[in-house]
Amino acid sequence: MQNLETVLDVKHFTEDLFWFKTTKQGEWKRPFRPGEFTMIGMGDDDISRAYSIANSPDDDWLEFLSIKVQDGPLTSRLQHIKVGDELEVSTRPIGTLLLTNLNMYNLDHEKPRLWLISTGTGLAPFLSIARHTEAYEYYDEVIVTHTCRTNDELVFADELRAHGAQVYQTVTREDPGPTRYSGRITGKIRGGDLFRDLGKSDTGFDLTRDRIMICGGPDFNQEIRDILEAQGMEHGTMKSPGHFVQERAFVQQI
Ligand code: FAD
Repeated sequence: MQNLETVLDVKHFTEDLFWFKTTKQGEWKRPFRPGEFTMIGMGDDDISRAYSIANSPDDDWLEFLSIKVQDGPLTSRLQHIKVGDELEVSTRPIGTLLLTNLNMYNLDHEKPRLWLISTGTGLAPFLSIARHTEAYEYYDEVIVTHTCRTNDELVFADELRAHGAQVYQTVTREDPGPTRYSGRITGKIRGGDLFRDLGKSDTGFDLTRDRIMICGGPDFNQEIRDILEAQGMEHGTMKSPGHFVQERAFVQQI
């Protein structure tokens, strides 16, 4: 049976990006875990799409960060939702971007780090993880990287910093200004700039210290995966937790 939730708030950041908040009144089989996604529809047809839940499971509401695809079957209409509208939201969240899919047992460093590496709306699951307390209980540092085409797509940084995360932002098609960086994150990782810019003493990931989550387009995901696997890092699953996990959820846009 379909579960309807009511829109509580909507904010438009750019012509391509918006955020919305809904009630969380449905009968969830279990609470969602930070990093999971669910299915959303308009409630008046069969079209539904996967959406990462962008807020903490502790909240008594739901938040989502959404692309606007002008001819997209869902988002051509979803982008026009207003407070009070009803949306279909599945109460069966799933996903692989889970802290439990990262291997904590072979972390052999007194200050372990969690890296949440995103492009575009790939930030959404990391908003959930970095707004929840669990990540900070396991890791000394939680570092969120976000790469977009333009500065005004780089959202939520202040709030994530207030939760205790470090935030590193890059843009690919604009001058980054004084507090952000220019270019793709893959280049920043390869060249060590990511670490230098953040004031770290090392210039690359450390198998005994770093655990990594990745969410972006397929090309980006693959490129990062190649970088990490070349270092001996292994992709984690529920059965076999590893050094990194990724969700192949988004198309390439940057
Ligand atoms: P679609 O027919 O689904 O897509 C049309 C085209 O738009 C795609 O072929 C692609 O070129 C482009 N596109 C679609 N989604 C994106 C995107 N997110 N970024 C850049 N380009 C895109 N989307 C979100 O906006 N927020 C999320 O939190 C989110 N989480 C997802 C989680 C998973 C596991 C998966 C598989 C997808 C997720 N998506 C998310 C994508 C989402 O499911 C839809 O594709 C998106 O809402 C567009 O729907 P649509 O019907 O309008 O267009």
